[in-house]
Amino acid sequence: MKFIDVHAHIQQHDSAELGGILQRAAEASVGAIVIAGVTVVDSRRCVELASQYPQLLAGVGVHPTDLTGPLTAADVASLDEMAADRNVVVMSEVGIDHQQHVLERPTPGGASWVDIQAEAFQAQIGIARKHGLPVVFHVREPGDDPEANSAWPAAWQVLRESNAAEHGGAAHYFQGDVTTAKALVDEGFMVSFARPLLRLRRLQEAAAILPMDRIVLESDSYPQPFKKDRMKWTEPWHLSEVASKLAEIRGMTVQDVMERTSENALTMLGDRSDAARKLLEN
Ligand SMILES: [Zn+2]
Repeated sequence: MKFIDVHAHIQQHDSAELGGILQRAAEASVGAIVIAGVTVVDSRRCVELASQYPQLLAGVGVHPTDLTGPLTAADVASLDEMAADRNVVVMSEVGIDHQQHVLERPTPGGASWVDIQAEAFQAQIGIARKHGLPVVFHVREPGDDPEANSAWPAAWQVLRESNAAEHGGAAHYFQGDVTTAKALVDEGFMVSFARPLLRLRRLQEAAAILPMDRIVLESDSYPQPFKKDRMKWTEPWHLSEVASKLAEIRGMTVQDVMERTSENALTMLGDRSDAARKLLEN
């Protein structure tokens, strides 16, 4: 078995970098990478790359902070058409982001970003359900103050009203608390951990108690020019570090963590897991 990175954005790197990124991933036993689109155009690139590189699988969606207004009928039609492609394995990246600088931007037509995001999230969950796709979603809170947290309540409302768990999914780059992690599992979702597991106490607490069949791993890698040392940019190969931390927390071997989390990801991908299974068992 190999690792699967369930959420990355390496489609955004310079295409000359892809070969090196994939090689470093392969050397760290990452056999498959799900690349998530953040706009319609970016989603199209994910679908194209997934058809060119066997180790890449695609997610399609419009990220809440990349919305420029309400999703248009043309956006929905494009996402719907892409979601039918067999290389598309998840609806992602979609979700809710209530950071202040996101909500403060002027909106077209005067609607609120809170409403625009909720409607776009709901519409994209509808596309996912139509195609039987799991929803891998983003929830980002306004700040560190739990009292001021409006993003999770807003996300729960959409997830529940639209029956998003019907085909499963995952809370990507999970940064919430133990209570939220448990609620996700109760609802039928996976919890996806990334590098913050290495340093955040509350994530380590959640990772210690969650059912082992509900944890998946991701890098969320994207180009990080703000880090001067190129080798410090997060890449899919960093999954091995996240897995080592999880192994330490759970008192398991890294090999065990790999097998369990990869099986979980394959379960999540459901009907569209065939290509990933071949890559991971190869
Ligand atoms: Zn992402």
